[in-house]
Amino acid sequence: NLDVFTFGETMVLFQPEQMMPLEYVHQFPKRIGGAESNVAIGLTKLGHSVMWFSKLGNDSFGRYIHKYVRGEGVDTSSCLFTDKAQTGILFKEQLSPEDMNVYYYRKGSAASLMKPEDLDVTSIAQAKILHISGITPALSETCYVTVIKAIEIAKQNGTKIVFDPNLRLKLWSSEKAKRVFNEIAASADVILPGLDEGQLMTGKIEVEEVAEALMGDGNKTIIIKLGSKGAYLHTKNEKAYIDGFTVKQIVDPVGAGDGFAAGIISGILREEPLHKVVRRANAIGAMVIGVYGDVEGLPTYEAVERFMKPAGNIRD
Ligand code: ATP
Repeated sequence: NLDVFTFGETMVLFQPEQMMPLEYVHQFPKRIGGAESNVAIGLTKLGHSVMWFSKLGNDSFGRYIHKYVRGEGVDTSSCLFTDKAQTGILFKEQLSPEDMNVYYYRKGSAASLMKPEDLDVTSIAQAKILHISGITPALSETCYVTVIKAIEIAKQNGTKIVFDPNLRLKLWSSEKAKRVFNEIAASADVILPGLDEGQLMTGKIEVEEVAEALMGDGNKTIIIKLGSKGAYLHTKNEKAYIDGFTVKQIVDPVGAGDGFAAGIISGILREEPLHKVVRRANAIGAMVIGVYGDVEGLPTYEAVERFMKPAGNIRD
C-alpha cells in the first residue's frame, strides 16, 4: 500500500555557517541535499507512505544518506549500493545573504549509474503517484532512460505522474533540458514548473499563456510556482492565482519548491479540491524558507494547518 514512488540523486552537502569564500572556511557541517529525497521526507511527515530509490556509493557518505532518509521514515528498501563509483557531494558557498554558489562533485557518481533494470517495477506499479524530477534525466544517459522507463511503468499501471522540472543549468544545456522536459511533460498528469521553467519549455512569457501551452490538448493540472506571490493553478475547469503566505524572515530560500511539491502530492492523495491543495502547498513553501536547511522546515500535517490559521489563535 504505497502512496508515492520517487527516485534521484541525494548528495552529502557541506554548507559552512560563515559567509565567506570557501578557501577561507575551516568547518563544513555535513547534511544531505537532494530534491527527490526532500519531497519523500516532506510527504512522510505529512503522513504518506513513500519509497525513495537511488544508487549510492558503498562508502560512508552513501551509508549516511541512506540512514538519514530511512530515519525520516521513508522506505529505502529498493536502494542499491555500488563499488563502481562514489557517492556525490556538494558544497555551498554563501558570500552574502543574496549571493550563494553551489559546487558539485557528482560527475560519474554512484547515482549517475542508475539504469532501467535497477527500478523496482512492482513498487512503481503499485504506487498511486510517481514523482519525477527533471534533475534525474540530466545526470547521465542511463539516468535519462531510467526516467523514461519509470514513466512507461506508471502509464501501464495507472500510476499518476507528477513532474517537477527542477532546472539545473550546471548539469545540462537549456536546449537539452527543454527537449527532455517537454518529453516528460507530455506524459505527466500534473506539472509543477517555476515561471522561468515554464517559459523555457513553452517559449511563452505570460503566466497564463505558459500554463495554456503546457496543457497541450491534454487534461493536465498545471501549477506554476510564483515565489512570494504564491502559485497559478490551471486546469480545464479552473484557472486561479492563489496567494502565497507572508514569511517574516527568509532564513534559507532553498527547498521551497520541494516542500511545495510535497504539499501538492499530499493534497492530491487526500482528494481535496485543487485550490485548497495549492494553498497548503504555498504554506509549506513559506514554512520551509523560514528554517535553515532543506528538510528541517518540512512540517507535519497538523503544523501546516496551524500555520494557515489566522494569527492570534490560542491552542490549549
Ligand atoms: P526552489 O528555490 O526550492 O527551487 P522553486 O524555484 O521551485 O523553489 P519558488 O517559486 O521559489 O519555487 O517557491 C515555491 C513555493 O514556495 C512558491 O510557489 C510559494 O508558495 C512558496 N514561496 C517561495 N518563496 C516565498 C516567499 N518569499 N514568501 C512566501 N512564499 C514563498
